[in-house]
Amino acid sequence: MQKFLSSIIFILVIFPFLSYGEGNLHGGNETIAFESCQQVFDFYNNSQITDGPFIFFEEKETLVKWVADDQLMVEKYVPSKQEYFQSLFKVFPDKDALKKKKFEKPDFKQEFHGVDKILAISDVHGQLNLFFEFLLNHKVIDIQGNWIYGTGHLMIDGDIFDRGAHVTEILWLVYQLEVQAEQKGGKVHFILGNHEYMVLEKDLRYIHEKYAKTAQLMDTSYDHLYSTATFLGRWLRTKPVMVKINDILFVHGGASPKFTDYGLSPLIANEYFLNNIIDKNWEIVKQDSVAILLDGSDGPLWYRGYFRDDELTTDQVDEILAYFNVSHIVVGHTSQDKVTPLFEKKIIGIDSSIKNGKGGEVLIIENNSFFAGTKDGTRTKL
Ligand code: ZN
Repeated sequence: MQKFLSSIIFILVIFPFLSYGEGNLHGGNETIAFESCQQVFDFYNNSQITDGPFIFFEEKETLVKWVADDQLMVEKYVPSKQEYFQSLFKVFPDKDALKKKKFEKPDFKQEFHGVDKILAISDVHGQLNLFFEFLLNHKVIDIQGNWIYGTGHLMIDGDIFDRGAHVTEILWLVYQLEVQAEQKGGKVHFILGNHEYMVLEKDLRYIHEKYAKTAQLMDTSYDHLYSTATFLGRWLRTKPVMVKINDILFVHGGASPKFTDYGLSPLIANEYFLNNIIDKNWEIVKQDSVAILLDGSDGPLWYRGYFRDDELTTDQVDEILAYFNVSHIVVGHTSQDKVTPLFEKKIIGIDSSIKNGKGGEVLIIENNSFFAGTKDGTRTKL
């Protein structure tokens, strides 16, 4: 019955667009040349697509589902037709990426050296406009959303999910940039924050109301849109929780004294989350003291100790840095008004409340100098 309905929807709604090449998101190979940020945002807000696409790997076929004008659209994925699903940023995975279906497990060590420039942003929480503006005005992307950052590294320090209404679009943009950066010798890092983790663990308390509706239209729950049965779900399950670039450790919440007391490492934490925690039965996970630590308030996704008065001494911070053999730790998660250096820049908090949709800052690191960057592209040395 569902298939029958899909066919009807396809014939009535999609087919006319295919035939006449109209409709801004289903116009085949047409590309839209944007000239300003506002045009990009207007296009998004006026497009019929209200959510998606989500790619589901069913037993016998791959389905693409999206919501347009509050209606569910379903189409079987056909490689030769994949351009019909191209979304705003041309982000739809190409047929090679889709054919693969399975992502390889990442290198759990996550260490990168000799990186000449880094732009770090965190806690975007569905604020596509700001995310786009920051990247555009600091020349990480062009107006079409393409990577122009060369061999630089873009660090997304967790929490794309929850609160805001444009999570899906940001994820696809990040996916596109990841592919494009790799081709240019650059890199996109997307560290799991507690809000990614919550969605993967089916804790849906913070999703935007729009997503409850999307899930309802798809006759499933929101977490299933990011389950192991979907493209984005599988992609998310390749992401680390701790990354070292040059002499800087990036982590969403922080690295606590308990983490180092346990003798843990980024490698162990990354491996543990993907192999022993996410999607695993809680009754089993809770018997593992390492998993409990990693998953708790002293774990990398949740720790807030750097920001609490008198919780840590400078000596303790120095010990943590020495343990990881780094000079700085960059974290998100604990919201400030702007990029906030603590302990003489040894710790830098970059959750600058972008989630409120008004402003915030990014951290730019070039030749061992640190800058706070605003959405209009200006930067101030820290
Ligand atoms: Zn967080």
